[in-house]
Amino acid sequence: MAADANLAQRLLDGDRRALARAISLVEDDEPEGWALVREVYPHTGKAVTVGVTGAPGAGKSTLIGALVANRRAQDRTVAVLSIDPSSPFTQGALLGDRIRLAEHFLDPGVFIRSMANRGALGGLSEASLQAALLMDAAGREDVFLETVGVGQAEVDIIDHADTVVLVLMPGGGDSVQALKAGIMEIPDVIVVNKSDHPLTQTMVREIRGVLSLAPQGPWRVPIVLTEAVEGRGVDELVEQLLAHREHIGQQGTLFERRRRNLRSEVLAIATSRLRRRLERRLAREPGFEALIDDVVARRIDPASAATTILDASEDVASL
Ligand code: GDP
Repeated sequence: MAADANLAQRLLDGDRRALARAISLVEDDEPEGWALVREVYPHTGKAVTVGVTGAPGAGKSTLIGALVANRRAQDRTVAVLSIDPSSPFTQGALLGDRIRLAEHFLDPGVFIRSMANRGALGGLSEASLQAALLMDAAGREDVFLETVGVGQAEVDIIDHADTVVLVLMPGGGDSVQALKAGIMEIPDVIVVNKSDHPLTQTMVREIRGVLSLAPQGPWRVPIVLTEAVEGRGVDELVEQLLAHREHIGQQGTLFERRRRNLRSEVLAIATSRLRRRLERRLAREPGFEALIDDVVARRIDPASAATTILDASEDVASL
């Protein structure tokens, strides 16, 4: 199916309504949405993409609100994609706590969109990546991806950011533990928000401790103290974001990073499609239920049953 040529053109021209419509198409898994992404994909890769992650309540949306104000003051166009994998609701629930971004709703230079879990396996991360690409194609210069962090590994959209920011708050030790335990990858920039809190320095020491144990790369992860509601520390955060961007640009790691992320995206899409095909094929095959009966009756162990299935469908294309 060919994409609506008019919609693609309006999107590339930066039309906000075309962007909103296009994102709805990918969110609803409409073939037209995929066709659109296919068509505009060559125009992507220009946006500066920053992923902001952290536990709920750490201050991510407040901070993004402040970052957006900073970027707008530099006359740059912005898009924000908030992804909440835990919310069973669609937009309404999310918009409720996007109050901090409300001041930007009327600014045509700011495009804000929320996405909640669609329930489909791999669905949210696929849809959110497509949405981020559409924002990029629409000419948004800065794209912020906001996700709830800490062990939410199933949403890997954050991997598609060029720079990843982890937002912590004093007293919120869980995230530091997650870093320490390696559940969470070391981000590029760490923010300790609500830094007027008395436990701020304690937290900074803990973070330094964790960072000193992590493998040292050429980039030294900065710890930036902010008070997002007051806009304090935001300029320094922007400086660090720009410094990181420049660092990866010079190192050639921006290219490598994007390659690695796109590689895993291609694999993820292929894997989820393969799984769907396999499930569909097995549903039509009476032998499959008989095989499960054998597993239930302890005549065949689960791993051997899986081998039997795969041996019968060795040619992936036949699935
Ligand atoms: P998110 O869930 O990580 O997006 O967090 P929010 O941005 O919604 O912030 C959670 C709460 O913390 C809100 O009530 C904010 O007003 C508040 N908050 C955010 N930043 C600060 C800060 O620097 N200091 C204080 N005291 N409160 C803050």
